[in-house]
Amino acid sequence: MKKNILLIATGGTIASKKTEEGLAPQITSEELLGYVPEIKEFCNVDTLQLLNIDSTNIQPEYWILMAEAIEKNYEKYDGFVISHGTDTMSYTSAALSYFIQNLDKPVIVTGAQKPINVDITDAKKNLLDSFRFAAEKDVCGVYLVFDGKAIVGTRARKVKSKSYSAFESINFPVAAIIDDNRITKYIRNEKFTEGVKFYKNIFPSIFLLKLVPGMEPDVLDYIGEKYEGVVIESYGVGGIPFLDKRNFLEKLDSLTENGKIIIIATQVMFEGSDMGIYEVGIKALNKLNVLQAYDMTIEAVITKLMWIMAQTKDFNEVKKLFYTRINEDSLY
Ligand code: ASP
Repeated sequence: MKKNILLIATGGTIASKKTEEGLAPQITSEELLGYVPEIKEFCNVDTLQLLNIDSTNIQPEYWILMAEAIEKNYEKYDGFVISHGTDTMSYTSAALSYFIQNLDKPVIVTGAQKPINVDITDAKKNLLDSFRFAAEKDVCGVYLVFDGKAIVGTRARKVKSKSYSAFESINFPVAAIIDDNRITKYIRNEKFTEGVKFYKNIFPSIFLLKLVPGMEPDVLDYIGEKYEGVVIESYGVGGIPFLDKRNFLEKLDSLTENGKIIIIATQVMFEGSDMGIYEVGIKALNKLNVLQAYDMTIEAVITKLMWIMAQTKDFNEVKKLFYTRINEDSLY
C-alpha cells in the first residue's frame, strides 16, 4: 500500500526564482511537487505551504510552527518532508529533533543548492530522495536528506556554500545512502514505545561567542545583560584563555554566579571537545560551573539549550537534560 506523505514547504533556494533583487522564494509547494511527478508513483502526497522565506530569515519560533504543523497532521500521514533553505537547515533539523521526540514516523528536511525550475539542479534529486526515504519502511526520527545522504537531524552541518555535496554528518556515521530506489541504511532506528511528544515552548535567548586571539573579555558583560545562555566556541579540545589582561575565567565566573548557563564547545568541526586534557581546559572545568559540548554540533548545542531552558534554568537540571542523549546527538 502506498504511504501518505505531507510536503511542508518553507522556501529556500529550492523554491526560488530570479527577481530584480536577487533569488527569492516564489515557487509554491504544489509547483515543487509538479517538477517531480515520479514521487506520486510510490506515495500519496498532500502539500502545505507553511512559509516561503529564505532560510536566513528563519526564527526559532518558526521551528515551533513546523512542529505544530506536524502535530496537527500526525495521525493522517505516514511521514513528512519539509522543503527548506540550506543556510539554516541544520539548525532546523537539530531543533525539530528536540521539539518532536520519540517519533515513530520520519520527518525529512531537504533543500537544494539550485532552484527547481532551472535546467541543471540538484533540487529534483533531493526532493525525490527525501520522499523515497520518507516512504521507506522502518524509518523514524528527524533526518536531513541531501546529495544522496540521509544525515541524523542532530548531526548535520552545512560545509560547502555552493557545491551539491553541501552537508556532512559530524562525528557520526551517515544514516543511509539513497541511490535511486536503492536505500542502504547504516544505522538502525531506535523504536520508541512512549509515544511521540511535541514541545511548544522555546527559549531563544542563547548567544554563540567565537573566541579569537585578542578578544576582550568584557564583551561578556554585554552578552550577560542580554542573554541567559552562552555557547563559547573555544579552540581545539576546548579551553578558556586566562593570561594577562585577557582573563575570560573571571568574567565567566561572574556570569555563572548570576545564573547564566555556559557551554564550552570547539571551533574545530570534527572530533569535539575533551576539556580534561590541557591546563586551559581543566582550569575552566574546575573553577566554573560550565558544561562542555563533547562531540555535539554547534547547531545541536544551541537548539538543545533553547529546548532545555524553556523548561528549566537550574544548572543541575540543565546539566541533566543536556547530557541526556536525544536523536543520537551525542555519544557521551
Ligand atoms: N539562502 C538560501 C536559503 O537558505 C540558500 C539555499 O536554500 O540554499 O534559503
